[in-house]
Parts: sequence; structure tokens; C-alpha cells
Amino acid sequence: MSVEQNPSLSPTGDAWLLTPGPLTTSPQVKQAALHDYGSRDHHLIAINQEMRDLLVDIVHGGDDFVAVPLQGSGTFVVEAMLGTFVSKTDKLLILINGAYGTRMAKICNYIGRDYVTLETAENVPVNPSEVDRILGADSSITHVVIVHCETTTGILNPVAEVGKVVAGHNRSYLIDAMSAFGAIALDSRDIRFDAVVASSNKCLEGTPGMGFCIARKSALEQTCHNAHSLTLDLYEQWVAMEKNAQWRFTPPVQVIASFHQALKEYIAEGGVEGRGGRYQGNCKILVEGMRKLGFETLLPDDLQAPIIVTFLTPGDAHFDFQDFYDRLRDQGYIIYPGKLTVADTFRIGCIGRVGPEQMHGVLNVIQTTLNEMGIVNCAAAA
Ligand SMILES: *Cc1c(COP(=O)(O)O)cnc(C)c1O
Repeated sequence: MSVEQNPSLSPTGDAWLLTPGPLTTSPQVKQAALHDYGSRDHHLIAINQEMRDLLVDIVHGGDDFVAVPLQGSGTFVVEAMLGTFVSKTDKLLILINGAYGTRMAKICNYIGRDYVTLETAENVPVNPSEVDRILGADSSITHVVIVHCETTTGILNPVAEVGKVVAGHNRSYLIDAMSAFGAIALDSRDIRFDAVVASSNKCLEGTPGMGFCIARKSALEQTCHNAHSLTLDLYEQWVAMEKNAQWRFTPPVQVIASFHQALKEYIAEGGVEGRGGRYQGNCKILVEGMRKLGFETLLPDDLQAPIIVTFLTPGDAHFDFQDFYDRLRDQGYIIYPGKLTVADTFRIGCIGRVGPEQMHGVLNVIQTTLNEMGIVNCAAAA
């Protein structure tokens, strides 16, 4: 059966995206993009300002924080944050337990920023007392960066505990909250950070095309001339936007319009409690259902963020991921391969405009697919 013929698809006839992004968006979010706006259009300027204010509200940033949007995917704004906040004479501690932490080290290699790493296995959260030891031993480290939810596995890192350690050593704290932002609380009144980055197309359920940095104003003010790149200079992007309310370079107008609508829906759903609550529900249905089918999760439940779940590949000789993936896709559900070194895995996301119906839906499809493929045992290879 092709995707087109399947009756249980999204309202626009697309497969449900159970991935780390881009994600399924609401019909209204897609609808909001059906307009042309000039870059100086007064409606665009108004929703752009509202979008920026709402983003600051999500971290309870008040007057101390500003939101600076940036064209591109999430990685663009990660690179912009590192290049803007970490100067050529600074030194960054990168906390790594997955691909996104590793990518930040790669970025630093490209842009010439000095760094050290603290690396743990992909199924082990960052250890705050190790961070404490490293900062205590190296006073030349000026900044620390952490990944809130490492999307490689879906593991939740202890951002608050590490934040306390970083604040205790009086260093600057940067957070890649990309896949958690809006679904897992990140309150600037509880966690002392100078910058957090995320993007339009993850838990805030907009369309892809822009990221944003929520920056402590007093820290951002110190970053003039730091950036390695004209287009990725968050200081200049901020100053220019404050000056005339416009973007420095062509704004992704349809993405902004969609994202503005997505933020309104986010608030209507009850913000982090509502959005995070729905994702927790999705995650619970998924994990319980998969375990019932015999699958094993990589992570114990207390390390698992309700964002994306990593399952161990069944040891059954009939299981072939590409075949499994194709069969699920043809029945309207897109899942995701794993990218781990510790184990052979695949992933299923809980985020985007999906709820219990889709989670039960994918479980039903998995059950019939396993039967069709002749898989009797879903336990991982020993
Ligand atoms: C999605 C994501 C990014 C950005 O990825 P892009 O593909 O560039 O959007 C960065 N960090 C984390 C933790 C992510 O989940």
C-alpha cells in the first residue's frame, strides 16, 4: 500500500514523522505560510517581535534576556553561539555524550576556538562532579557547553546540576537545548546560563528554516567583534534587529509566519507543562507498547527524555532495519535509524503534532509488520 492510499495519514496526506525533526506540524502552522511578506512588511515586523518576546518568556527571561533569530537549521545557530560567545582567546569545555556534542568540537576545529572535552558513553549522562573537577583544575576555561537532551539517544543531561557547578566556578554556561526546548523546563531563574539555542522545527512544532539564541543581554553586549563569520554573528544580528526591527539579510518570512502560529498553539496547549505532558504521554505509550512486543530500550526510564526513544535492534535474523523502515513508511509512519557506537539501534520520536492516536497507530503497524517479516523474538542480540 502506498502512502497516498493510506487512510490513516496526517490531514495533508503525509506520513507521520516520528523522528527528531523536521516534524509533523499542525494544519494551521502550514496554513500560516501561505502568504508573501516583504522584509519591511508591518505585519511581519509585528509577529517577529512577538515571536522574540514569546521565546524569552519560555525561559522566564524578563528584561535580562533577548531572543536573536537566525536563518538556517539548528546547527547554524549552534555554530553562531559558539563563534559569538567564545572569543579567539577564550577556552571552551564541551560536554559530550553523543553526536551533537561531538559536532560542537568539530565546529570549534573549523572556526578556530580552543576547547577541551569531557566525554562519556552515549548511554551515560554528563557527570556534574567531573565538570567540577575539570573547572577546578583549569582556570583558563572560560565557557562550558552542554546538550540538554542528546538526541543521538534521547538521553537527558543534568543541565541544572551542571549549571550550579559552572556558576560556582564563575564561568559562562551555554546550552544546546535544540531537541528539548519548550517540552522540558529550562528556567533562567533557576539555571544561570548566558545563551541557549534551539530551532523552529523541534518541540515548538514550527517548520524548519530558522534557529534562535536566547541570550543574557549583559553577556551578549560583551561579544562585539568576537564572531568568526559575518552571517553567524549573533551580536550583529541582534544590534541590527534592535535598530530597525528587521532581519539583517533576507528573512525566512514563511518560516517566521509558521513559527509565530506554532508559538500561539504552544501557549494554547499550556506551554511547557502542556507540550511536555503530551510528549510524556506519547513516550509512555510507545515504550510500554514496544516492550510488550518484546523490544528493549537502550536507556533505563530515569535517563530517557520524552523526545525520542532508542530501541535495540532485535537479534532475530529476519529483522532488517531498511525493510522494517520501508514497510512502516508505506503504512504512514516514518521512524529513524540509530547512530550509536555502543549498540545497534533504531529510534522512534515522540515529538511533533502527534498524540496517542499516532502512537497506538505505529504500534499496531509494527505488530503486523513483525508478523509479515516473520519475526518472533524482538529481544536484542546477546
Ligand atoms: C536537531 C539538533 C541540532 C541541530 O540539527 P540541525 O539538523 O542542524 O537542525 C543540534 N543539537 C541537537 C541536540 C539537536 O537535536
